[in-house]
Amino acid sequence: MPKAKYRYPPEANCPTHQTQAPAEVKGDSPCPCCGCITIPNGGDALAYICPVCLWEIDLFLTDENEPSDQNHGLTLVQARQNYAQCGAVLPRLKQYCRPPFPEEIAPNIAIK
Ligand SMILES: [Zn+2]
Repeated sequence: MPKAKYRYPPEANCPTHQTQAPAEVKGDSPCPCCGCITIPNGGDALAYICPVCLWEIDLFLTDENEPSDQNHGLTLVQARQNYAQCGAVLPRLKQYCRPPFPEEIAPNIAIK
């Protein structure tokens, strides 16, 4: 069998980009679910997902008991309860969470 001329999928061959770590967004506001300081842009970050609890910022919510379309229909109250119990907005999402960095831990919050 002849050797393929091009590799598929193509591989990046740029040495300046191969060694860069994924960009980490610096948060400046508390997550409405877990309370960690993970949300950038003063909290005005539509669809930004908190890396600690995986709550997706939903700026259209007007009440903590309103189901969030961006969060599997969870309310903020339900998401906080889940985070308190298992460390994520939904138990099956725990594997994708990361622990908060020291600078993200707000005073008086419980870390799971
Ligand atoms: Zn969070």
